[in-house]
Amino acid sequence: MSEAVRAQFPIFARTSRGEPLVYLDSGATTQKPQVVIDAEMAFYEGWNANIHRGVYEFSERATLAYDGTRDTVAQFLGGVRADEIVFTTGTTGSINLVAQSFLRPQMAPGATVLVTEMEHHANIVPWQLVGATLKAIPVTDAGELDLAAASRMLAEGPALLAVTHVSNTLGTINPIAQLAAVARAHGVPVLVDGAQAVGHFPVDLTSLGADFYCFSGHKLFGPTGVGVLWARQALLSEMPPFQGGGDMIDRVTFAKSTFAPAPQRFEAGTPNIAGVIGLDAAIRWVMSEDRVAWQAHDEQLLHLGREMLAKLPGVSMMASPEHAVGVLTFTMTGAHPHDIASILDSRGICIRAGHHCTQPLHARFGVQSTARASFGPYTTEADVLALGRGLHAVREIFA
Ligand code: PMP
Repeated sequence: MSEAVRAQFPIFARTSRGEPLVYLDSGATTQKPQVVIDAEMAFYEGWNANIHRGVYEFSERATLAYDGTRDTVAQFLGGVRADEIVFTTGTTGSINLVAQSFLRPQMAPGATVLVTEMEHHANIVPWQLVGATLKAIPVTDAGELDLAAASRMLAEGPALLAVTHVSNTLGTINPIAQLAAVARAHGVPVLVDGAQAVGHFPVDLTSLGADFYCFSGHKLFGPTGVGVLWARQALLSEMPPFQGGGDMIDRVTFAKSTFAPAPQRFEAGTPNIAGVIGLDAAIRWVMSEDRVAWQAHDEQLLHLGREMLAKLPGVSMMASPEHAVGVLTFTMTGAHPHDIASILDSRGICIRAGHHCTQPLHARFGVQSTARASFGPYTTEADVLALGRGLHAVREIFA
């Protein structure tokens, strides 16, 4: 199955360091199918114009394509309202928007935001910037959320629960619907960081129970610099803008300005038009694929990878959560993760080494840094086996 998917990605015809490309860093960014590359190029080559400004053909077409992508995203997220879709620069931009426009205007000084120990820095720092106090739901040794602790902490009535759908470091798929139900019982709004989720399995926001959902185009086979914030219209329509400029206003005088309704109110300035057009192509492509098969393939590779690493002397997984996407995060005794990554790189194998923007999670597991291999639907068994051979070579150098 991965071969048919892979054939749609031109990059896999390339070599890296003179070796066939083994790309195991989809958690950092996914590769792009030809349809996405073509969509962006067709816009720039054929009908590039700014949106919402011109009455001429190209501007009208660009405007329709840009605003029409809200419908594509709304459908992709399970059939939510198109006017609940805000285009941002990415997950980071979306979370900062919620921190500045939702939390900041209504929060008591030092209000608590409940996060988890497995959050990406993008779901930690924005809350600190608006002066919130963070409390974190603990992560078990298995790399899963401690749900009993989560219930107790939600009962304390934090101003917000901000939780990742899927951990970029552990791969854990968190039980969002269950957490959101407890949060709702205590009147706590819920923000979900979907950066690592949307590229792996379908997400239905009509049943998930979240109030805010964020993701990035580039982890969903789309372009960099574009992302989405979904928020319930009842919340979005009450939120003030936090960036001002063109395209987000109703009327401007020197005395006072009034603002456009949501979602336009949150999209000040010329947006990433080409990026949104690429995102539309990426989402249409994902929806045309057999995502049930994707998930089964991902689970199979994860199983293979975990078994392979378990047999390698000196290799320790950070954790092996039961419900997870294809992510292998590990350390090897005697070899620094950066050395592991460099040796693999010389064989054309791309993995990531470091803290993966989850320093608190690394502190929780008592390590400074780890090596991480992460999969996409184009990852093959051969890729995973190449990783295994590469790690054997690393062992030989460092053992
Ligand atoms: N959250 C998670 C779980 C992520 O994996 C990432 C990207 N590594 C982000 C947030 C931030 O995404 P971006 O850099 O695209 O804004």
